[in-house]
Amino acid sequence: MDHMSPSLFSPDVQRTALTVFAHPDDAEISCFGLLSKLRREGWRIAMVVVTRGENGADVASWDRMNEARRAAESIGAELIFGDFSDGFVTVSGDLVHWIEGLMQEWRPDIVLTHFTGDNRTSHQDHVAVEAAVQIAVRRAPWRPTLLLGEGIDHDMTFRPNWFVDITEDYETKAAAIAMHESQSHKYYMRREHVDVRSRRWDINFSRPSGAAEYLPRYWEAYFLVQHAM
Ligand SMILES: [Zn+2]
Repeated sequence: MDHMSPSLFSPDVQRTALTVFAHPDDAEISCFGLLSKLRREGWRIAMVVVTRGENGADVASWDRMNEARRAAESIGAELIFGDFSDGFVTVSGDLVHWIEGLMQEWRPDIVLTHFTGDNRTSHQDHVAVEAAVQIAVRRAPWRPTLLLGEGIDHDMTFRPNWFVDITEDYETKAAAIAMHESQSHKYYMRREHVDVRSRRWDINFSRPSGAAEYLPRYWEAYFLVQHAM
């Protein structure tokens, strides 16, 4: 048993979620509601950012790193930056081994990364990071749960099968996204866009009929790759 991770259902152990995303702000967009929720439940959160996002803004990458740092600190998450080049990430041995090393260090119960889909129309860095994480997770003998988070990319192959009600954590998520000020000019960083993305999955779920008030719920959608019990 000693190489196994504690069960997600044992209440007495501190559990860990590890996110691996290509750029500063990717995790905030995809899964920050879940991270905030898990953190409130006492989980350890380690956020791995593979590049410093140096090609994604007109500002120095230092600013993007600081923005990510502020967001991570808002929920008490650890933040780890990789040294890979923004825009030029490939599924290399270097990347896979680096992720494997982080997984050995953090022993995550849940790993979260990009969903990039069958269309392969996502950002090239996202495609490479998802592939490298899939390889690393398959090699982890404690069989962590692997979730792929919805990205900004419009991908008709995204068929989520795992949903998290993030209503209680939604303002925390929206605030973390807004901390990425260098990216605020991008359409998907606008609050109304974030709202719509988070609200639209609500139509999947039934409500009590006749409820006097229709309270909006906010969601994150995931594709669950593996969950071993
Ligand atoms: Zn990205």
